[in-house]
Amino acid sequence: LPVVAVVGRPNVGKSTLVNRILGRREAVVEDIPGVTRDRVSYKAEWTGHPFMVTDTGGWEPDAKGMGRSIAVQAELAMRAADLIVLVVDATVGATSADEAVSRILRRSKVPVLLAANKVDSERAEADAAVLWSLGLGEPYTISAAHGRGTADLLDLIVEKLPEKPRERFLPGGPRRVALVGKPNVGKSSLLNKLAGEERSVVDNVAGTTVDPVDELIELGGKPWQFVDTAGLRRKVRTASGHEYYASLRTRAALDSAEVALLLIDASEPITEQDLRVLSMIVESGRALVVVFNKWDLVDEDRREQLDKEIDRELARVPWARRVNISAQTGRSVQKLVPALEGALESWDRRVSTGPLNSWLKDIIAATPPPVRGGRQPRVKFATQAGTRPPTFVLFTTGFLEAGYRRFLERKLRESFGFDGSPVRVNVRVRD
Ligand code: GDP
Repeated sequence: LPVVAVVGRPNVGKSTLVNRILGRREAVVEDIPGVTRDRVSYKAEWTGHPFMVTDTGGWEPDAKGMGRSIAVQAELAMRAADLIVLVVDATVGATSADEAVSRILRRSKVPVLLAANKVDSERAEADAAVLWSLGLGEPYTISAAHGRGTADLLDLIVEKLPEKPRERFLPGGPRRVALVGKPNVGKSSLLNKLAGEERSVVDNVAGTTVDPVDELIELGGKPWQFVDTAGLRRKVRTASGHEYYASLRTRAALDSAEVALLLIDASEPITEQDLRVLSMIVESGRALVVVFNKWDLVDEDRREQLDKEIDRELARVPWARRVNISAQTGRSVQKLVPALEGALESWDRRVSTGPLNSWLKDIIAATPPPVRGGRQPRVKFATQAGTRPPTFVLFTTGFLEAGYRRFLERKLRESFGFDGSPVRVNVRVRD
């Protein structure tokens, strides 16, 4: 479904507007699985047009963090939405934060509607006229609390909203990489190294839709799209809510990427924070290359220690590709491209049904599924239901234990590869 993002400063009435869009029309209010409290998405409908509404402002920053908060909201919205509604408080007028977010949104390729909220009476309409100065066109006056003007706004929303979500991933375009990792592992350094002193940054590759927050870098003769790098380039850091922004950005980058480059500082012990980023990657289902950076600082002792940490901490992603580099000296940085390509090749791969089922027959004959409740489930048939990541469906006559499912996944990998990519195995029980 097409996505409408509602952005704006705290207390301008974003949530009230979202509730108005949902509640009044008896819309289905449901948490969509997989979304976190950072971004809440709901299914809505107006005059027979279904769409999603996303409220990006789940967090109320203090005064200092404000500008940054809505800048992040705006960037996420430009990436994820098909239409953006910027809500401003007409009783306050255009604040500097409103101006800052408008500046960002004026670059937006998706339509932006300016909603001037808290216009509770006709008399107050005139106040909204100053909001033309934001450069986002006509301010549409509404009162989210009382419902004044919201039907007209919704008419406009469905009028401007495309039927289908925009095509974000152009087939044949550059592959999209999310460069992620906790602070100070060397993400910026690597990005700068890759972009190169000669500025091999390609600005305009024909047929691509590069968001303003992305960067195209030519590596191994091909353009690669590094998503959500604006933050890495700008390196704005605020003490307040830093972790929050970092995780918001990581999630947004993963959303729009195909493969994750997880940077870990090899010279220091692997931490909780590294593992949190890893969890986000695993949840996202993206291909993965784990990059151990600062290899120039790793001596024999540290290396041994690191091997132990890898065994312990990265046990959940034994399939991930690993590369040791130094972003500073440039050592082994050229190994990244083959690792990325290999991981993506696995992520895209499809096994045809014939070989898959003869493989299945052999495996099951050798190691049948464990008996449960006196019954031996039969695995009748397997098919690859999808790619990116490879997703398999097993049709069985009974429940398969998690351990046996993991065993099948491991065997699938041994037989068919899939290095660098997660593999999903779903079970459908049919008698
Ligand atoms: P980010 O927060 O992940 O973007 O990390 P930065 O790129 O800002 O790097 C953090 C610090 O680590 C900086 O002082 C870098 O100079 C340093 N650094 C980055 N890569 C390397 C490396 O390969 N070797 C060494 N010795 N230092 C590095």
